[in-house]
Amino acid sequence: MKPTIALVGRPNVGKSTLFNRLTRSRDALVADQPGLTRDRHYGHGRVGSKPYLVIDTGGFEPVVDEGILFEMAKQTLQAVDEADAIVFLVDGRTGITPQDKIIANRLRRSNQPVYLVVNKAEGMRSAVATAEFHELALGEPLSISASHGDGVRELMEMVLEHFPDAEEEPKVNHPKFVIIGRPNVGKSTLVNAVLGEDRVIAFDQAGTTRDSIYIDFEREGRQYTIIDTAGVRRRGKVDEAIEKFSVIKTMQAIEDANVAVLVLDAQLDISEQDATIAGFALEAGRALVVAVNKWDNLDNHQKETIKHEIARKLGFLDFAKFHYISALERKGVADLFKSIDEAYRAAMTKLQTPKLTRILQLAVERQLPPRTGPIRPKLRYAHQGGMNPPIIVVHGNALSKIPDSYTRYLENMFRKAFQLQGTPLRVQYKSNT
Ligand code: GDP
Ligand code: GDP
Repeated sequence: MKPTIALVGRPNVGKSTLFNRLTRSRDALVADQPGLTRDRHYGHGRVGSKPYLVIDTGGFEPVVDEGILFEMAKQTLQAVDEADAIVFLVDGRTGITPQDKIIANRLRRSNQPVYLVVNKAEGMRSAVATAEFHELALGEPLSISASHGDGVRELMEMVLEHFPDAEEEPKVNHPKFVIIGRPNVGKSTLVNAVLGEDRVIAFDQAGTTRDSIYIDFEREGRQYTIIDTAGVRRRGKVDEAIEKFSVIKTMQAIEDANVAVLVLDAQLDISEQDATIAGFALEAGRALVVAVNKWDNLDNHQKETIKHEIARKLGFLDFAKFHYISALERKGVADLFKSIDEAYRAAMTKLQTPKLTRILQLAVERQLPPRTGPIRPKLRYAHQGGMNPPIIVVHGNALSKIPDSYTRYLENMFRKAFQLQGTPLRVQYKSNT
């Protein structure tokens, strides 16, 4: 499981600058999807063979007037408790502030490792930049420059030292899915509908991280694993009011699954949070099925309205199948499984090089990539670079200037030819010149 690193610190110390640096390489892989609002506070990255998730808690800060005592926002505190490591940024140019001390006091009680990082230290001797911050009593401070990149790799190597390398191959060979969505859309009702009908083989506690539970079950002769994030299955015994939505748990469960089932509430508007959660699945490259729940008790006008809303706000999920279900009445659940199977198969498909190259050549014959200046990119052949999501690596010359629209055109060609319904798809380029 990938570790999650939380970036913490008062405003203006450089959290978002560092966040961008830590997520840049990976983000470049996701071609801009029209309509996808990228949440710039959660992202993926990798240093060497070590992948990680990173959260910029600056996005959670309440807007406070000057002079009001700084309080860490609730979401920030939650992130501090749930992250695997904390990078606490301070500003080497302004020096220690009262806010830094308040945050340090809170972080000293943290169970996770905390790395005190002095930013904006370009051109300064490390000992000078860090000297006064020893007072925060969080160990030896490290100096970096987020905007220049100095010391960032060393920092991440240290943070990630005790976390595992990326897994080579997916360990299971059946759908391992997670049900995601904002609170109250019907996730636990759906989990219970799913498990109530089927024979649960084992409550597998082994390999369980935090409080997510992995449950193996069989349905119509096929194997599945459902990742049940805490509070879903056990809900009902706990007070509903204390149930809280956990970004980190959701992201990590998505990472660990090979299929995500996004639940929406048909009786409410599609919210920003729905789009954000959908965005997690898309960025993680997971196969996706959408369950529009609470389809009972809707009149035709309401049904039309919500379908229109979905098309408008979640258009970037056009690769996924949508199901209109009632978890409460257990309607539509069987069809949902057909799409889970299909999405899983698509995500794990082996794409043969000769066929990939044939489709590529066909695509180029139909529509040449646009010229930039005197040079026209030349697309020569393609091979598969990965699964879940399928990655297609296109080789050729002068490929760096290919516009996103052409990349999407190629994606659509490959998707149709290989019937990759239900999974995101990534096209990458490898230029010889
Ligand atoms: P945040 O509020 O903590 O997310 O901080 P930002 O990333 O928005 O940075 C605040 C300001 O500090 C911006 O003007 C950045 O350009 C600047 N900044 C960030 N990192 C560095 C750095 O390493 N060196 C210098 N000199 N400025 C930086
Ligand atoms: P969660 O927070 O996403 O796990 O949501 P729950 O499963 O706890 O459901 C929230 C509320 O929605 C509960 O009162 C459920 O009874 C109700 N609910 C769940 N599924 C349906 C459905 O298909 N139709 C209707 N009408 N209500 C539902």
